[in-house]
Amino acid sequence: MSRFVFSEPNFDGHEQVVFASEPKSGLKAIIAVHNTHLGPAMGGCRMWNYASEAEAVTDVLRLSRGMTYKNAVAGLPIGGGKSVILGNPKTDKTPALFEALGEALERLGGRYVTAEDVGTSPADMANVAKRTRFVAGLGETGDPSPFTALGCFVGAQAAIKHALGRDSFEGLVVAVQGLGHVGYDYARRLKEAGARLVVADIDQAALERAKKELGAEVVPVDSIYDVAADIYAPCALGATLNPNTLDRLKAKVVAGAANNQLATADIGEALRQKGVLYAPDFVINGGGIIKVCYEYLSKPEDQVEAHVRQIGDTLAEIFARADKEGLPTSVVADRLAESRFKQ
Ligand code: NAD
Repeated sequence: MSRFVFSEPNFDGHEQVVFASEPKSGLKAIIAVHNTHLGPAMGGCRMWNYASEAEAVTDVLRLSRGMTYKNAVAGLPIGGGKSVILGNPKTDKTPALFEALGEALERLGGRYVTAEDVGTSPADMANVAKRTRFVAGLGETGDPSPFTALGCFVGAQAAIKHALGRDSFEGLVVAVQGLGHVGYDYARRLKEAGARLVVADIDQAALERAKKELGAEVVPVDSIYDVAADIYAPCALGATLNPNTLDRLKAKVVAGAANNQLATADIGEALRQKGVLYAPDFVINGGGIIKVCYEYLSKPEDQVEAHVRQIGDTLAEIFARADKEGLPTSVVADRLAESRFKQ
């Protein structure tokens, strides 16, 4: 028997996996509700030209599980879920497609709430909202990335305190990989706090801006792993902590926004043995979901920043526990999340 949903390696007791289709708009979507013990499942909608349907299933199972951990560790009253639309976000998008997704969410009655993700935008979410209220991240103030950047900054503060005994970034070198929505704002905060920036991106305009506005030194994309930095800040791709990069890293701290930074789970232990303090990705990059959750639940906007700043305290707790128990920070972060959502 071929491995499909229940025997797929990323299947983790997901409560519900829904295949949604609508012929007129051409919608083909998969909605995965991983866990709702803490509240309705929340997580973005990804639109991607998957090579196969099986690949889409793998992605939605993996991503939805990750949201349960991220939301729980952020102390939010929501569970974890994710949706994927099979299609090319550059050529296949129509308002009807997202309206059809809205209808599919409506049929789930609020068990899953969506938002933007890779390949989708606030404008797409506005079309979803024509058919359902189970959607967040709408409109001009919906951009969560400044809050993700703030979370990274306070997370890095906690990390330098723990690993380097430092209260200040003054004179520290940070290697920033990716100067997009999150990376640029995070870099700006680091610069303002006295850090020296070494940056890499595939986008020349972003590099020019960082040189001009932040006095950053630019290195070729692949050289970012070799920089003699105190902090490595991955803010572009996943899986950049892998056997090929590990030997090259000079930094004593890894603190960045990218999702799924560890290529495999055992890299967490390898980092520990190398004496590198890793701020687990789903903890440090939780600022965006905090912002989106507050918006969805109509909680006071002026309390978002204080909640995001708690990411620093959570990481300090994880770092201390990891030392005490002789475990990788990634394992301690998983256990902290599980203690909250597994009932
Ligand atoms: P973005 O697309 O705005 O920025 C990504 C940047 O990385 C771009 O400037 C891109 O040119 C650059 N890049 C791509 N390939 C690169 C490479 N090989 N080397 C160096 N740079 C490269 O994305 P974003 O919203 O800033 O998110 C950055 C990361 O953080 C992603 O992994 C994302 O999943 C994660 N994340 C983002 C948020 C958020 O609020 N936006 C929340 C949680 C996690």
